[in-house]
Amino acid sequence: MIHKKILITIILIFFAAAAAYSIYKIQNCNRNYGEKSGNKVNSKIDHQTEKKNINDNANQLNIAEDRIFTGGDLKYNTQSIPVLYYHSIDYEKGNELRIPKEKFREEMKFLRDNGYTTLTMNEFYNFLAYNKPIPKKSVVITLDDGYEDNYENAFPILKEFGFKATIFIITGAIDNGKNILTSSQLREMEHYGIDIESHTVNHDKLDKLTYNEQLSTLKNSKNFLEKLLGKRVNYIAYPYGEWNGDTVKAVKAAGYKLAFTTASGWANKNEGLYTLSRVYISANHKMEEFKRRLTNEKYNISN
Ligand SMILES: [Zn+2]
Repeated sequence: MIHKKILITIILIFFAAAAAYSIYKIQNCNRNYGEKSGNKVNSKIDHQTEKKNINDNANQLNIAEDRIFTGGDLKYNTQSIPVLYYHSIDYEKGNELRIPKEKFREEMKFLRDNGYTTLTMNEFYNFLAYNKPIPKKSVVITLDDGYEDNYENAFPILKEFGFKATIFIITGAIDNGKNILTSSQLREMEHYGIDIESHTVNHDKLDKLTYNEQLSTLKNSKNFLEKLLGKRVNYIAYPYGEWNGDTVKAVKAAGYKLAFTTASGWANKNEGLYTLSRVYISANHKMEEFKRRLTNEKYNISN
């Protein structure tokens, strides 16, 4: 009888221990799962970690917290999005790279009136790299080279519509030349929320340089802007859209997260994050052509 009681007690203790152990395992599993899937919005642990990381970065780098998009009308990174690229926003007869400000305003107004969301580079990167959802009607606005008219003409229009945009600047030209943005203009725009990113030091044709020369212009332009603006510079557009195999290795080694070419098309992660296509916008385009490029993913494939 006594033996039977002891046996039952032992069995009960064994089951209690087993139950406690499995509860511990399940909790631990959840914790690991949460940390690994950093972009799962519906995990409480993730969301808090994510918020904390964003806040830490924002404090460190003095940048605004990125928007988190919710709702039904979202798209995921298997889909492409248009990255528009401009140069100068000013009129010059016969120069298709220079778009009159009235025309630029009309295009921006079209985006606003048709419910487009302009993404920051970080938002675009998080979409491509971590599949963070973005609104279906998302667009990225980029301007190459860093002309002073980007400040004089484009900036007031971007502010008027509350738009985000990215300027890829030739860092060797800052404060040095006519019609190129100055340090204080760059700081003011960055403070507002325009991303200032690299376009190399001297508008270098990267594919004509050795690997080490490429690495040097990629690193130097990045460091220069990071010092000037007090933030991380993670994005670059290749001058003339030129690049080769060394370029992709060098941008990675220099610490960039995304790089843009001038290949024509909507950007998709399958192209590779260091060779993303863009949509060219010319002064010669009528409004219909602007709309076609913005709304038709296959605009560049002639039928
Ligand atoms: Zn350029």
